[in-house]
Amino acid sequence: QAPSSDPLIDGLNDPQREAVLTTEGPVLMLAGAGTGKTAALTRRLAHLVHSRLAWPSEILCVTFTNKAAREMRERVGHLIGPAVEGMPWLGTFHAVAAKMLRRHAELVGLQSNFTIIDTDDQLRLLKQLIQAEGLDEKRWPARQLAGCIDRWKNRGLNPQDLDAGENESYANGKGQKFYKLYQDRLKAVNACDFGDLLLHMLNILRTHRDVLEQYQNRFKYVMVDEYQDTNQVQYLWLRLIAQGRQNICVVGDDDQSIYSWRGAEVANILRFEKDFPGAKVIKLEQNYRSTPQILAAASGLIDENTQRLGKTLWTERHAGDKVQVVGVWDGPEEARRVGDEIERLERQGAPLDQIAILVRAQYQTREFEDRFISIGMKYRIVGGFRFYERAEIRDALAYLRVIAQPADDLAFERIYNAPKRGLGAKALEALHRLARNRGIPLSNAAIEIADTDELPARARNTFLALMRDFARWRDLSATEGPADLLRTVLDECGYTDALQAEKTAEANGRLENLVELARAMEEYDSLGDFLEHVSLVMDNENAAEEEKVTIMTMHGAKGLEFDNVFLPGWEEGVFPSQRSLDEGGLASLEEERRLAYVAITRAKKKCTILHAANRRIYGQWTSSIPSRFIAELPEEHVDSETTLSGGASLWRAQWSEHADPFADVARMQPSRIVTRGPGWQRAAAKEYDASPKRVVESTRSAASFAAKPRSDIAVGARVFHEKFGYGAVMAQEGNKLEIEFEQAGNKRVLDSFVKPA
Ligand code: ATP
Ligand code: MG
Repeated sequence: QAPSSDPLIDGLNDPQREAVLTTEGPVLMLAGAGTGKTAALTRRLAHLVHSRLAWPSEILCVTFTNKAAREMRERVGHLIGPAVEGMPWLGTFHAVAAKMLRRHAELVGLQSNFTIIDTDDQLRLLKQLIQAEGLDEKRWPARQLAGCIDRWKNRGLNPQDLDAGENESYANGKGQKFYKLYQDRLKAVNACDFGDLLLHMLNILRTHRDVLEQYQNRFKYVMVDEYQDTNQVQYLWLRLIAQGRQNICVVGDDDQSIYSWRGAEVANILRFEKDFPGAKVIKLEQNYRSTPQILAAASGLIDENTQRLGKTLWTERHAGDKVQVVGVWDGPEEARRVGDEIERLERQGAPLDQIAILVRAQYQTREFEDRFISIGMKYRIVGGFRFYERAEIRDALAYLRVIAQPADDLAFERIYNAPKRGLGAKALEALHRLARNRGIPLSNAAIEIADTDELPARARNTFLALMRDFARWRDLSATEGPADLLRTVLDECGYTDALQAEKTAEANGRLENLVELARAMEEYDSLGDFLEHVSLVMDNENAAEEEKVTIMTMHGAKGLEFDNVFLPGWEEGVFPSQRSLDEGGLASLEEERRLAYVAITRAKKKCTILHAANRRIYGQWTSSIPSRFIAELPEEHVDSETTLSGGASLWRAQWSEHADPFADVARMQPSRIVTRGPGWQRAAAKEYDASPKRVVESTRSAASFAAKPRSDIAVGARVFHEKFGYGAVMAQEGNKLEIEFEQAGNKRVLDSFVKPA
């Protein structure tokens, strides 16, 4: 044992110390959230350099994100000073692999100055190949092919390694051919994509003994954080390198494996002892991050998973607040509530950068952004664009801007060929020429060009058809609300179909964002009002280094910690996500539960979970069911509060009635189902209109507290509604009423908005 005055191990507990001092041989640090795994790994790195066991350049240390790498570099810098400058091999898998590949590029037919292409380039290239082969890109979208290729690369598979089953997954068995064409094309332009960085290096290490030995000798020590989320190609690559000296130390937590959708395999951490016989397994059980209440709540939740190793966690921190579960009426109230809480914390002196809102899906950020802007709360969106800056949102807004203001040339340029209409840069050039000569906006030029011979007839007709659409939408904007207008436009212009055809998680996310945009627009009476609001929102980019509240996804928050954490939207279909429910397997639900565990354990002092009883979907209010994860939190560590009658105990009882959580999934889904055939937004809205009973029944069965009919109103009664005036109740379903209004006609409204007349 080293003397306890060593600053590098001072303050560490025994197992952490062991992890730092066990420098030789394989080490697996397997422990729960907040137990100081990353802290120990950082000290270990410093210790290796400090005690001269290795030069900084002889240590390979891999982290999951660039942010984590930067933080580790900074902390090691505090411990060992400028020596940290000489650590080229501390970084993410991709960063480290890229650096290696530059040195051996010629072995895979590249030059050392190869370009790393991004997703956009990748898609463009794939599209060219698909077209060149005469395949129908609508039927077999480039994005789908890109998804397949990424998956294959994540698994370390080259084109020749694909078996028949793999190959079938794109264009009836053309996957392998396209994969090969794509790789050849990349080589021809001296480029590689992200997945290639690791795959090429793996190929090199497998086929060139000398290179492999060079790295096996160079790296005296190998370390990996968040090992539970390594994918196959990363795993194979690491194993080859570490198998030389066997000095590999990995840390992770099987309960925090949340990236299987990107090819991560938790099995990698579970078979570590097999890969490296004689590995020392170190378990850390003391949590230094969270209060006992938070810890107990998170532990109780993750206990529901069947597929886990299981572990104990304890803390010496004093009790603190229970996890707070807040039931609110709807999304806007949720955002208001969080905003109020944060203002209260701020008044008590809490630093804003110790406050985070962690969401399941990107689209959830919108409601918070709108609220924070209106109350002047500073926030930052980490790992993603702010809602109104996302590409699909900008596209949708551009359509609306051209409708509202035909002279908006910038908006016109953005969407004249989005979705693709076969209009290229040449077509736009011709429009510009005409517009300049005649001193008219582009959208007028798009009409007038029809009478010229400037462009091929097909392009002229396309422009003309588009402008006819715009004229129709403009008429429509006078009669329809902005939200309905947007839905019509997105369906009719082909934007929705184009995204649907992609059939990828990313495209689904974009569709969800667009649905959310329409939802946001419900609150505005006119298109002009809404566009005004958006321009104010977009203008809100404030100075960079101020203290701000963090808004990010739960996935992105892995490894991070904050004093106060807010977790909104804990409702079936939001979290767990509809996708995980549709896929239906135990594995996908358990991954969602691990995500919940990650989310709760980010909190140091206080964790607040929120769920709303109603979400607006397609302009209709629908009851939501609180997430099963809420019911799974141990009651003694939770403070429940709800603004709803009936209260938390009702649904808690309902949940626990069901031994098998899946038994009810089918019955619950209709309230949140998104029908994703062509024109799905309209289809789903129509379906909703056509069968309100089905929706209401299915939600009432599991969340009757939110849909209890009012006893003072009955069918036939005369009532008064703030907006629609007097009317007679035609039907009553839970908390929803169908009313024949004397002025406004037949409407479906919530009973809380009417009073007996
Ligand atoms: P996660 O699983 O979320 O990545 P982790 O196991 O990596 O968590 P760390 O982030 O390393 O945990 O540590 C959690 C918190 O505990 C940090 O604030 C860290 O500074 C603190 N900590 C770690 N070890 C000790 C220790 N021995 N004494 C006091 N505080 C510690
Ligand atoms: Mg960590």
